[in-house]
Amino acid sequence: MFRFQRGELLRGLPVLRVQGIQPCLQLGGLLLHAGKIGFHTVVVPGLVDHLGQPVPAGGVIGAARTAYGCINSHYFDPTKPADGTKGLFRTKQAGRTGLGTVMTDKKLRAVVVLAEFPKGDNPYGAADWGRVKRAGSRLGKVVHDVDPQSLKMYRKGSAGLIAFMNKDEFRSLPVNNYQLGADPRADRITGKFYADHLFEHRGMDGCFPGCNLRCTKGGWVTLKSGKRAGEKVWVDGPEYETAAGFGSNLGMWNAEFIMEANWHCDDYGIDTITLAVIMAFLTECFQRGYLTKEDAGGLELKWGDEASALAFIHQVAEGKTELAAAAGRGMIALEEMVARKYAARTGRPEPREDLQRFAMQTKGLPFSLYRTHRSLSMQASYAAASDIGAHHAAAWLIKVDLLGAFPSMEDKARALLAYPRVRLGNDNMGLCKLPWVDVFNPESGTRKDADIYINPASQELYADFYNGMLGTSMTWEEIFAQTDRDINLQRVMNAMVFGADTRGRDSLPDRAVGPTDDGLYEAEGEFHDNEVARLLGRPLEEVRALPTSRKREILMDDRRKRLRELIRAYYRERGWTDSGIPTVSTLKGLGLWEFLTEEARMKISALAS
Ligand code: SF4
Repeated sequence: MFRFQRGELLRGLPVLRVQGIQPCLQLGGLLLHAGKIGFHTVVVPGLVDHLGQPVPAGGVIGAARTAYGCINSHYFDPTKPADGTKGLFRTKQAGRTGLGTVMTDKKLRAVVVLAEFPKGDNPYGAADWGRVKRAGSRLGKVVHDVDPQSLKMYRKGSAGLIAFMNKDEFRSLPVNNYQLGADPRADRITGKFYADHLFEHRGMDGCFPGCNLRCTKGGWVTLKSGKRAGEKVWVDGPEYETAAGFGSNLGMWNAEFIMEANWHCDDYGIDTITLAVIMAFLTECFQRGYLTKEDAGGLELKWGDEASALAFIHQVAEGKTELAAAAGRGMIALEEMVARKYAARTGRPEPREDLQRFAMQTKGLPFSLYRTHRSLSMQASYAAASDIGAHHAAAWLIKVDLLGAFPSMEDKARALLAYPRVRLGNDNMGLCKLPWVDVFNPESGTRKDADIYINPASQELYADFYNGMLGTSMTWEEIFAQTDRDINLQRVMNAMVFGADTRGRDSLPDRAVGPTDDGLYEAEGEFHDNEVARLLGRPLEEVRALPTSRKREILMDDRRKRLRELIRAYYRERGWTDSGIPTVSTLKGLGLWEFLTEEARMKISALAS
C-alpha cells in the first residue's frame, strides 16, 4: 500500500505522510505544490526533474544496495558561475540513519516541492515579525564581525575544523581508522587548502538566500573514475566529516580525491560518513591480516590507495562483490563476514572480539569523524547521549571539552544534558545551529556564572527568534529544555528494541577510548606515560621503565572505568535508572507517558522497576 495525506495539518503545519510501499516496480516521484496553507499532491509516475516533469529512470541507486542511503535535498543556486553562465543545482545530504534507503524501499525516488518565495509584510505568519527580524539582524552582525576574524567559515566551510582537530595537543583527527590523531600531511586537506585552491567563492554559499554565515562551500573537480570519468562536475563540499572520512582516516592526503569520493557518494545517494568509516575498518582488516585480496574479490584496500578506494565505492553502490554487498549492509554485517572468512581461511576461531576493538560503531552506526581519546565527554556522547549511535548531532562536545570547558565529572554529565538540548532543539526549530556553534558571540564572554562555551548571548538571539515567531515569552533554557522529550522518546525506542541490554548498548569499541595495541601506546608514549604516572602517583621516570603492555592495561582500565562512571552520572542527571531506562515519573514529568502505547508502558515499567 502506498498512501499519502493531502493537505494534512499537524498543529498548523503542513505535513506529508508517506505510508507503505508503492505497488508498481518503477520508482516514482511525488510532486507537491506548497502553499501557505497546505499541500496539493500529485503522484508522478517514474522520476521527475527539477521542474517536476517526468524523466526516464536510470543510473545506479546506491541507496538501494546499502542500509545507509541518504536523501539529497536539491536547491537551485542562481548565483554560482557554471559553464560561462550562472546557476546550478546544489545538494545537502541527510544520510546517517538511512532515510534514503527507506525512501528507496518505498519505491519513492523524489519529492518535488514547487513553492512561491514567501513575500509580504509578514511572509511566514510570525506573531511578531519585527522581533524576528531584529533577532536576525543582531545575529547577522555577530557573524559579520566575528567570523572573518576567527574560523572564517565563509571561506573554509566546516572543513576548517581539520586543522583544529589535527593539533598536536588534541590529536583528535582520525588517521588510519582512528589509530592515530594527527598527521603533518593534514595541511593538504584543511579548510584553508580548499579555500585557497578548490572552493569557488563567487556567488552565494548559503543553504538559502539570506543566510548570514554562508558556509556551504563547494567547487569543481574532474572525475577519474566511474561512468562519467573525465567529466568536470560540481561538488557540494566536502564538509569536515567527509574530508576527514575520505581523507585522514583512509590515509589519503589529496583534496581532489576527497571531492571525487564525495561526489560519487552524493550521486549514488550514499552517506559519506558511514561508507568512509566502513572502508577504514576494512583497510585496517587488510593491514592486520584479517582480510586478503581473495576475500575481497581481487581488490585490496590500502592506506592512501586512491584507485582502490574509488573502485570500492562503485562496487558498494552496485553491490558487485560479496564483500561490497556486506559493506552495504553496515558495520555489524561486515564484522561477521570478515570473522567468518578469516576463520575459514586460517582454521582459527572467529576473531570477533579482536575486530570489535576497532570496528568503529555504536548501536550499529559507524562513528562520525572524531578520535575521542582525549575527550571523555565526547566518548560518553557517542556511547550514551546520542541514541542513534555514534553521531555528533546530539552532543558535539569534543571541541569545547578539549578547550577545558568541563573540568569535573559533574560538569561533563551536565554538559551531556545541556548541549543536546540546544543542538537538537535547533534542529526541531528547523534552524541551522552553525551560527551559534561556530561563531562565538563576544557578549557571551562577559557573562558571569554561566557556561560561556555554550555561547549564551547567541542562544538569547535564537530565543528571540522563537518567541517572535510563536508569540511566547520563554528563556532559551526553557525553550531548549523541551528537547528532553525527544531524547527520552528516543531512549524509550531504544529500550523497546534492546530491552534489558539497553545499558550494554551504551558502549564504545576500545579504539575510541585509547591505544588498542602497544605500538599505538608508544606512538603517543610521552602523553600516555604522563597519564599513567598521574594514575599511579609515581614519578615519570619510574613509569617510563614499566613494560608498555602493563602501562597500557593501567591506562585502558582507568579510561573504561571513567567512561562507565560518566555514563552512570548522565543517567542520574536524566532521571533514568542505572540501567539507562527512563523512569515512569521522568516520562510523566515530561508529558510523554500519556502518548506511549500500552505495550511501551508495560515494557518501560518492567525495565525501570
Ligand atoms: S550557516 Fe547553516 S544555513 Fe548557512 S550556509 Fe552554513 S550550514 Fe547552511
